[in-house]
Amino acid sequence: MVKAVVGACWGDEGKGKITDMLAADADIVIRFQGGANAGHTIVNEYGKFALHLLPSGSFNSNVTNMIGNGVALDIPQLIHEIEDVVSKGVPRPNIVVSERAQVLLPYHRLFDQYEEERLSDRQFGSTKSGIAPFFSDKFSKIGFQVWELFEEDRLMEKIKNVLEVKNLMLEHIYHKPLIDHDELYKTCREYGEMIKPYVIDSVQYIHNAIKEGKTILLEGQLGSLKDPDFGIYPMTTSSSTLAGYGAVGAGVPPYEIKEIITVVKAYSSAVGAGAFVSEIFGDEADELRRRGGDGGEYGATTGRPRRMGWFDCVASRYGCRVQGTTAVAFTVLDVLGYLDEIPVCIGYDVDGEVTRDFPTTGKLEKAKPVYKVLPGWKTDIRGIKKYEDLPENCRNYIEFIEKELEVPIKIVSNGPAREDIIMR
Ligand code: GDP
Repeated sequence: MVKAVVGACWGDEGKGKITDMLAADADIVIRFQGGANAGHTIVNEYGKFALHLLPSGSFNSNVTNMIGNGVALDIPQLIHEIEDVVSKGVPRPNIVVSERAQVLLPYHRLFDQYEEERLSDRQFGSTKSGIAPFFSDKFSKIGFQVWELFEEDRLMEKIKNVLEVKNLMLEHIYHKPLIDHDELYKTCREYGEMIKPYVIDSVQYIHNAIKEGKTILLEGQLGSLKDPDFGIYPMTTSSSTLAGYGAVGAGVPPYEIKEIITVVKAYSSAVGAGAFVSEIFGDEADELRRRGGDGGEYGATTGRPRRMGWFDCVASRYGCRVQGTTAVAFTVLDVLGYLDEIPVCIGYDVDGEVTRDFPTTGKLEKAKPVYKVLPGWKTDIRGIKKYEDLPENCRNYIEFIEKELEVPIKIVSNGPAREDIIMR
């Protein structure tokens, strides 16, 4: 049985918390895309953790956590995160890494930074974790799969070929120091030694796990609107954020993915540049940002203040649809308890025409939000365990949004901790 936990919008919906919670009943948790460029914040009995590459099942000793072939594998970062959770009292997590995962190298970060510098005021707002240069190299077929780190002669030769073009770019486009062949070779060999204990044939491993009836969770990073095909291209990430890609990035048969749990946040937030129709500004935004998430809406990787907005039915319905959602986990609802009235974006006005369908980026940039204002509930709902015990206006908010999403909200999250959950 394979389930995917993915995001509906721009990311930071609380996927980490939902995966950590669902991991209690899982055997394997797999990261299938992205890299260390975004973070999941998890609060549990061991404390508060910002994970970037470690799968969110890392706190459950019954779980094997896999870095799938679709991930940008930053080896020192992964080792650092493992040692960090262990140093904070978490039992050493069971980690395996696909031999087909590709390796993020130091120059990917540099190229990310240099390109943003070159773009200057047109930059993408990259986290500079090297993700875009990494995936460009992967699809230009000049990336390095993990197994290549162990084949010395081949590695030597390949580095020579790759550096030919990299150094031309460094010299003529970016005017930066060149990369030394022997130094890069040494780095690759060191990376190889670091990762060796974790490396497996993931195709075989997953095949056996499915045959044995294991429960597998696929953990997505970011959300639908950052998907390079269906998101707000080009202000997207560089690997697919969709559950469908989970089949590729983890190596599971597509028909085995039986449940797609899309995490949807009770209001909107976004990091990085790009269209954000229901964005709010000024004091209204500052207050929501300050009260949002667990201790404020600031990026888990960069610490940057997140852009804030009201709930967007158009974007979220579309986000759920492209994921193929079977159930929604509706999160961070407790944060809205301070508001008298809560605006919800129900349509986009594009050149005087109102639409409920999420448009392509050109039109999206012109869209103005059409709001419906719902009454607030003005109470703290943390600690409530049963759906019926939620205030009426709060249930009305959930049910209004459920109708707009056109998929059932089966999980409601009313606080950052594992146990702050209401099952419907
Ligand atoms: P992810 O990348 O989707 O896992 O999301 P992040 O971890 O970046 O952001 C979610 C933030 O909201 C984290 O700080 C979580 O601890 C917090 N969080 C998750 N669910 C809830 C919730 O129901 N209520 C509150 N107040 N915070 C939550």
